[in-house]
Amino acid sequence: MIVYVNGQWLDDSSATVSFQDRAFVFADAVYEVVHIYNGSYFKLDLHLDRMQKGLDKLRIQSQVNDLIPVFNELLNRNPEVKRGSLYVQISRGEAPRAHGLPKLKEPTVVVYVRPLTPDPRIWEQGGRATFVEDLRWQMCNIKTTGLLLNCMAKEEALERGCDDAIFHRGEIVTEASASNLFIVKKGTLVTHPTGPWILPGITRHVVIELAKTLGIPVKEEQFTKDDLLSADELFLTGTMSEVSPYVEVDGNKIGTGEVGPVTKRIQEAFRKETGI
Ligand code: PMP
Repeated sequence: MIVYVNGQWLDDSSATVSFQDRAFVFADAVYEVVHIYNGSYFKLDLHLDRMQKGLDKLRIQSQVNDLIPVFNELLNRNPEVKRGSLYVQISRGEAPRAHGLPKLKEPTVVVYVRPLTPDPRIWEQGGRATFVEDLRWQMCNIKTTGLLLNCMAKEEALERGCDDAIFHRGEIVTEASASNLFIVKKGTLVTHPTGPWILPGITRHVVIELAKTLGIPVKEEQFTKDDLLSADELFLTGTMSEVSPYVEVDGNKIGTGEVGPVTKRIQEAFRKETGI
């Protein structure tokens, strides 16, 4: 696989970054994952917008739009990647370890694409989830590489025989380990509002827009674990999870325990939007 690291095109076996890189030492970096459908990026502009906001908030001096030629070149160099993902990570750069933010002019940039063979099991049959207390920080709206609590939550879910973890802060449900979350109550979609407790997902945004065009009402407001357990339907949204129905949480069936009609309408509209 050919990867792009700091202006160079390298084989992944020889691509390296410094042990003093701030991403390695402090997770002082932001990243994006973009889905590739039919050999083109899906909603790249929205991903780059979100990434730039994260860079600006962390005062990492980098303009992500400068990388657009690199993203295009990656598709040219990897024409076999018709369905896949782009990974881009920008860290503050390399500096001797110190907590203050060094004013570095050369961020570390890593970009690559890889192919994906989708597994339709959850999309078709629905997944099983488990609740995990959300112990993450209060800046979940910035997509930093500091994902250890997301990884630990996912691992806890796998150990409990589930597909994913649903985070809650006390009684309030926030999102899943790598996806946003919607419940369906009496035909209305409800999802946690944007803010410091969730990532403002691109797929979440696309789904809200699609729901509007389908005439499905959407409420962006907080709801509890009990609201979730008594919902008619539940689905997660994410760049890689797309629109993933979930039919069971901690052994409790959601609605009928089967993929529901509103979720199916959203899945269908989303599939059309991706062009596959
Ligand atoms: N929340 C978290 C914690 C995530 O990691 C992701 C995946 N990027 C999402 C939500 C979904 O965001 P998106 O639709 O932009 O992929």
